[in-house]
Amino acid sequence: MRVLLVEDDPSISDPLTSGLRRYGYEVQLVTTGADALAAPLPDVVLLDLGLPDMDGLDVCREIRRSSSVPIVVITARDDEIDTVAGLEVGADDYVSKPFGVREIIARIRAVMRRAGSSTGAEASTPPPQQLGPITLDRVARRVSAHGVEVALAPKEFDLLAHLAESPGAVFTREQLMEAVWDEHWFGPTRTLDVHVAALRQKFGNALVLTTVRGVGFRLEV
Ligand code: CA
Repeated sequence: MRVLLVEDDPSISDPLTSGLRRYGYEVQLVTTGADALAAPLPDVVLLDLGLPDMDGLDVCREIRRSSSVPIVVITARDDEIDTVAGLEVGADDYVSKPFGVREIIARIRAVMRRAGSSTGAEASTPPPQQLGPITLDRVARRVSAHGVEVALAPKEFDLLAHLAESPGAVFTREQLMEAVWDEHWFGPTRTLDVHVAALRQKFGNALVLTTVRGVGFRLEV
């Protein structure tokens, strides 16, 4: 699924772009309204309202004039949403800063479902993944090792599922906190370590989760 991200602030667009890519979305980033209007039509548009060259609301109206592509508007403040929604610029949903990647993905899936897109449905129903002796079923939220189901707490499941998106790759603590807990990460936390320890204990030898000192964690292939 192709996402057109229209955002001039790199502190928003950098983590959002990498977050969306981790979830398998193809992201095209543009930083101006003019570039947004010139870009090829994506499957969904994420549109910041405060753009350097033109009002994001006009970008929204202009896109809507020629296309029914789902548009999720990014506003700077919660209380702007009512004002902006009342203007009926043709946006499908709104999200206010700051937000997490998971929240954005939930909005994208919701607008894609409403738009009746099969792409959105496919993106949310991947087949079970095999990781050595472990079978990970994201749809049923069940996981088994050597054919025996392992009971996981919801965040334990989310953490394992996230690490399993790129086996062998190192995920930083910040990435994992943001992806699993949907939080901006401001300092040391034990939450992640507690959940990693729980996964190691529950899976024993079936799962090798390596601590990469000073960086984060890696699920070994
Ligand atoms: Ca902006």
